Amino acid sequence: MENNTKLIHGYRAFDETTGASSIPIYQCSTFKQTSIKEGQPYTYSRFGNPTRAALEEAVAAMENGNYAVAFASGMSAISAVLLSFDQGDHLVMCKSIYGGTFQLVNEVMQRFGIEITFVDETDLTAWEEAIRPNTKGLYLETPSNPLLSVTDIAGVVSIAKAHGLVTMIDNTFMTPQFQNPLDLGVDIVIHSATKFINGHSDVVAGLVITDDPVWHEQIFLQQKVLGGILGVEDCWLTMRGLKTMGLRMEQSVRSAEKISQMLEQHPAVKKVNYPGLKSHPGYEIQKQQASSGGAVLSFELADQEAVFAFAEALKIPIAAVSLGGVESILSYPVTMSHACVPKEEREKQGVTDGLLRLSVGIEDTADLLADLTQALAKIEEKIEK
Ligand SMILES: *Cc1c(COP(=O)(O)O)cnc(C)c1O
Repeated sequence: MENNTKLIHGYRAFDETTGASSIPIYQCSTFKQTSIKEGQPYTYSRFGNPTRAALEEAVAAMENGNYAVAFASGMSAISAVLLSFDQGDHLVMCKSIYGGTFQLVNEVMQRFGIEITFVDETDLTAWEEAIRPNTKGLYLETPSNPLLSVTDIAGVVSIAKAHGLVTMIDNTFMTPQFQNPLDLGVDIVIHSATKFINGHSDVVAGLVITDDPVWHEQIFLQQKVLGGILGVEDCWLTMRGLKTMGLRMEQSVRSAEKISQMLEQHPAVKKVNYPGLKSHPGYEIQKQQASSGGAVLSFELADQEAVFAFAEALKIPIAAVSLGGVESILSYPVTMSHACVPKEEREKQGVTDGLLRLSVGIEDTADLLADLTQALAKIEEKIEK
C-alpha cells in the first residue's frame, strides 16, 4: 500500500461498532465498568481513550511502527522520552536542536543530574567521540532548524548499536511521509504533530512512536504519570489533518523545490538552505534517508534592513512562529526562535540578522513564486554572491 492509500485505509480509520466514517470523539473522563470485580480496556481517559487510541494507531502505521503514544504537545512528547533517563546518565545530542528541547535539557534535565553533550550533528566522529562510559542515548533532529543541516541517521544508528545505546529522533520536519527513522534502525521517533501531521495550524500535539515493547511501556507510563495526554478533540482534529498529509506535502514540496531554485539564482539572496538542492552539503545523505527535501527552507538576505523591507512587501505567507500549516509561514529566527540567544552565539551558529525561514504551504506555486519575487525586488541593495 502506498502512502496516500495507507493514510485512509492503513489502520482502523472507521468506527467498528457503528460504521461511522470518522472515529467518534469519546468525550468522557471515565467509563462505566461492567463489573467492579475486574478491569476492562478503557477505565479512565488519562490511562486510555478510544479516540486517542485511534490516532495512536494511525500514526504508528504511518511510521511503520508497532506503538505510538499521543501527547499534549511536541514538548510533552520530548519530555516524556528524555525524563525516562536516570540521574547520572549521559546523552549526546545534536547542537542545532529545537529551542524548547535545548531549554528542557539545560534548565530541567541538568537539575535531575542527567548530563548532556552537544555535538556538530553533521560530523559522525564527533558523535562517536562524545560517548562516555555513562552514555545511554543519542538524540538527533534532522534536518535541523533553522539551517536545515542534515545528520546521517544510519551513521548515528550504527555508532549507537556498536555502543549499546538507544537512538531518539525528532522527525517533525520530514514527517512520516518522507522519512521513516524506525526503518533505519532508530529506536524512538518523536513528532510535534502541531506542524505537518495536523497541518492546519489549529492544534498543538505531540507523538512518540517505537517498535520496542519495553520502551513503549516506559513511554506509556510517562504519559500516564506525567499526565500530558492529548485531548480528544485535538486527537480527532489531528486524525482529520493526517488524512491529507500526503497531498499537502506533495504540493508544499513541489513549491519548496521551485522556490529554493528561484532564491538560489536571485541576486538579493546570499544563501539558500534546502536539503533538496544539489548545492546543499547534506544533499546526498538526505537523498538516501528521505524521499524529499521537505517543505521548509531558510535563506539569507544582506542584513536586517533587507529582511524588514522584504517581509513588509510579502503578501501571501503569514509572519509567525511555527511551521507546517496549509498557509505558508515566514519566520524571523532573530526575533522569534532565537530571541533569547545572545547575538554572538547566534551568529556563531549561523543564525544571522539576514536569515529567514519559510515553511511552504499548499498555495499555488506560481502565486508563491510571484509574491516572493515581487518582495525581493523591494530590496534595493543587491549583494555580490
Ligand atoms: C515545534 C517543534 C517542537 C515542539 O513542539 P510543540 O508541539 O510546539 O510542543 C519540537 N521539535 C520541533 C522540530 C518543532 O518544530
